This record gives sequence, structure tokens and C-alpha cells, in this order.
Amino acid sequence: MRSSRLFAPTLREVPSDVEMTSHALLLRAGFIRQMGAGVYEFLPLGWRVLNKVSDIIRDEMDKSGAQELLLSAIQPEELWAESGREGPMSDVLIGFQDRRGTKYYLGPTHEEIITDLVRKNVRSYRDLPLNLYQIQMKYRDEPRPRGGLVRCREFLMKDAYSFDRDEAALDTVYNRMYEAYVNVFKRCGMDITAVDASGGAIGGKETKEFMLLTDAGEDSVLMCPKCGYAANQEIADFRLVDASTGDEKKQMARVDTPGAHTVDEVCGFLKAKPNQLIKTLILMADDKPVAALVRGDRDLNEGRFRVLLGASKLEMATPEQIAACTGGPIGFSGPVGLKVPLYADEETLGMVNFIVGANEGDAHLVDVNWCDVAGKVTSARLRFAVSGDLCEKCDEPFEEKRGMEMGHIFKLKYAISEPLNAVYTDEDGSEKLIIMGCYGIGVSRIVAGVAEVSNDDNGLIWPVSIAPYQVQLICANVTDETQLALAERVYETLVQAGVEVLYDDRNDRAGVKFKDADLIGTPIQVVVGKLAAEGKAEIRTRVDKTAEPVAEADILANVQARVGG
Ligand SMILES: [Zn+2]
Repeated sequence: MRSSRLFAPTLREVPSDVEMTSHALLLRAGFIRQMGAGVYEFLPLGWRVLNKVSDIIRDEMDKSGAQELLLSAIQPEELWAESGREGPMSDVLIGFQDRRGTKYYLGPTHEEIITDLVRKNVRSYRDLPLNLYQIQMKYRDEPRPRGGLVRCREFLMKDAYSFDRDEAALDTVYNRMYEAYVNVFKRCGMDITAVDASGGAIGGKETKEFMLLTDAGEDSVLMCPKCGYAANQEIADFRLVDASTGDEKKQMARVDTPGAHTVDEVCGFLKAKPNQLIKTLILMADDKPVAALVRGDRDLNEGRFRVLLGASKLEMATPEQIAACTGGPIGFSGPVGLKVPLYADEETLGMVNFIVGANEGDAHLVDVNWCDVAGKVTSARLRFAVSGDLCEKCDEPFEEKRGMEMGHIFKLKYAISEPLNAVYTDEDGSEKLIIMGCYGIGVSRIVAGVAEVSNDDNGLIWPVSIAPYQVQLICANVTDETQLALAERVYETLVQAGVEVLYDDRNDRAGVKFKDADLIGTPIQVVVGKLAAEGKAEIRTRVDKTAEPVAEADILANVQARVGG
């Protein structure tokens, strides 16, 4: 491809709301353009990278025994009602009606659709196992799209679904997919950490997430430096340390705390530490109020709480709902005298003489003890693990890191096949439920992930395997006939040999071309400049600018060696 013909509009200034490095670089270098909130267009350079990632995934999926197909992005609403996931996923579902009034959703994921296909076509154990995958755009009405390609409303995903007779067969395919994923990320030049994770709204018990560790990630990962245990903060197991002080219990008292809503404000007012306070959070679980009690310096793990309650929907209560069930305004809730089910984080049960809201405006209760909380209290693990909590396996303090999820594998088991009644007839003639697994990779997110961790001040740095072009050929001065003639010959030779070349043939200053080449991040640069007079070009890499003068006859072999390695 000649740069003079390439549609890659570069941007000098990125919009001020662009926060992530990858987002800024992909926009600046002309790989993507934003069409709307969380909706992006892939321009030719971005599309080439996306396709290379897809090809690597396709290759590894095929090798693992999975078969590619393409399902419809338009999904009947009735299947979502049947699986019972319409409610839990209602926040992200994008729906519409056709001219007959039939309701549809744009596919955010395809468990329902593929299970429907399989239940209609699989009869006996002889039809199993099956592992089917597709690479397709997904649609989710993300409330907070972010980071360009990181969290979008339209994104490219590889999703695979396995169908098996029993748990042992599921274990086999799950492990095979794990290996395939490791290979995919390795081939994309990514250093990925597999961590234990939660199934979320998709369901499923055993789950691994493949995390790219980067400060720009939105997930928290807890890692044990001793035994290697790694888990998403949402589900990380930790050992509870007994923090009880043995202090003598005091008499509860009401104190005025005018205008002190937040933990910091209350602590400032009462000269207390956040760990002496218990936050009372009012939530609506399937539209019924519940209270979650966590220490002032902790955060409620809503996912864990939802699972504990067995609720399909859990939301923070509105100020009106809080007033209705506590009698007080938001920020002043407390467990004393509260008439909603109380769930206390296990850590709070050892606390004495703590501070809580008084369920009235501008007031708190101090020196509260559990005997003052008359109602029944259910003890549970409600908070996130954090840095410094102890690994349950070996008592070593966790390290907390930021991660960006690139893929996940779930043992769905019967979470979808049961409500959809996807069954097969076994050897003994009995009818059994099909056991399932699902396996996703964010294809467009990989593009963002690599761009996020592989760059420098000058631009992107692509690994050869997924670079838009393997080689950037630069003719320093196209008005110099010797340089132009050599560059043209090198271009023809490389293209004939199947090397992917972006040839900067523009009549522009050499400095501009070098800048653009670095911004685009093509891994190998061949520069035809002054040495053309001696029949030589200079070959260097995007990272290591040490130029190697190479005679024309040796250029192809030199480039091929670099591409291969
Ligand atoms: Zn450990």
C-alpha cells in the first residue's frame, strides 16, 4: 500500500475527554474514528489489525476442535424471557420492534440463540460433543462507555459455546480452551494473567478471566506473591483477621452531625477513623429494600451480595426509597431500629463502640454495639478483598493490581440449558440436560490492550503478528531520482515476496514521514535515503533505531528474517 493512497486521516489534537493512551494513539494515527458514544469505526489500518487478531483467534479455535459459524445479531425477545436473563441484563439490552410488533434485541452475547439452535438439532449422545464459535459484533447499552475500544456499545467479540454430556467432558473442553487462549494472547504479543473470576449476570460457577495488567485497567486483581493465587477483586478469597480490640462496651449515645453525609465528613466531625464507623447502605433487591453494613473504609461487593440474596436485580435505593424505609435522609441510615433485613459484613461483627447513622437528618449514634441493634442480623462476606488482606491459602498479604479483561472462560453448566430445556438422549435411553461452557475474547479490546501497553512518546509499537503492515518503507526524498528508483524496486520486491509493506511515497519532508511511521508503529522500517547512491537502504526497527545499511540484493532476506523473528 502506498501512503499517498492510504485512507488514514491523522489527528493533531485528540478530544479533551480522551483519557487512555491507547484511545488517543489509535485516534491520532488514524486507526479508528468515533461515530457516537461508545461506537467506533475501524479505518483501514485499524481494520487490518482487527483482522489479524481475528485470524490468530480463528486459527487457535480451529486447532482446538471448535467449529466456526455465524449467528444472527438479531435475537427474539422470547428467548431471553425463556432463559430468565432478560431482567438481570435489562440494563445493557438494546431492543426494538419490527413492523408486526415482534420484539428483538441486538445480541449482547449468544447463549440463548445458540442453545436454541442446538436443542432443535441435537438428539442423542452421538451428536455430542460440540464446540461452536463465531466472531461477530456485539451490542450492549453500556451506561459508561470508556477508553475508546475498551468499553463500547458495539464491539467485536469471539464467542464460543461448548455442549457436552457430562462434567468430565466439560472439564476437557474447558482446559483445551484455556490452552487455546494462552496461545492466542501469546501470539498477539500480550503478557496475560489468568485469574479466578465471577460469572456475573451470565451465570456459571467456575470462571477464569484473562487479564492484561495495566494501570489503565478498570478491574482490580488480587495476587498472592507467594503461592501465585490470583483473582478478580469481586471474588478473591481472603482470610479474615480478628481485629477485635477487647474494649469495654459503652453506652450508646445520639450526637448531632449537621451536614455530615459522607464517611469522611462524619469522621472529621467526630474525630474518628473510618474503621470505627459502620456504613449502612440501603439497596433494592428485586424491588424490596435490604440493608448492607460494611466498615467505613470498605466497599460493598454488590455482585457477591446479589448472589447471597439470590436476587436477579440489585440496585442502590433512591433518596425517596431510603426515606420511606429508614425515616431519614440519604447519608444518615443506621441499623438501630431499622425494619429492613440487615446483612452485616463479617468483619463488622467484632467491632465495639462503633458509629452509625441515626435514621434522622444531621444525627449519628456513637458507642453503638451489636446488642443495641435489636433486629436479626445476617453475617456474610460483603466487602471486596483489598491489598494487604491475607491469602486464604498461605496467609501472605495480597498485592492489588489493575487489570483489563481480554477474555473469559465459564463453566456455564446447566444455567442456560435447564431453562431452555436443551436435552439429549443418553446411551441408556434416558433424557439428560446438556452441560455447557462459554468462552469469550474481546477482539477489538485486544487492539486497545496492545496499544495501551505497547507504545512510547512517538506513537504505537505493534508486534509483527498483528501490525497493520509488517514493514514501513520510506523514500526520504521522492524528488531524488536515484532514491525514488531504488524505493520503487524495493517496494516491488517485497510485495512480490508477500511481505506486507506500507510505502511512504509522499512528496513530503523526511521528518514528517519518520514521525508518521513512528506514530503508526509498523515494527520494521526500511529507509531509502542518501545511501541510495551506493545502492543501499537502511533497515531498523520501530523500537531500536540503530540503522543497518543493507545492499539492495540483501534487503528482502534481511526483512524476511526480521518478520519471521
Ligand atoms: Zn497465597
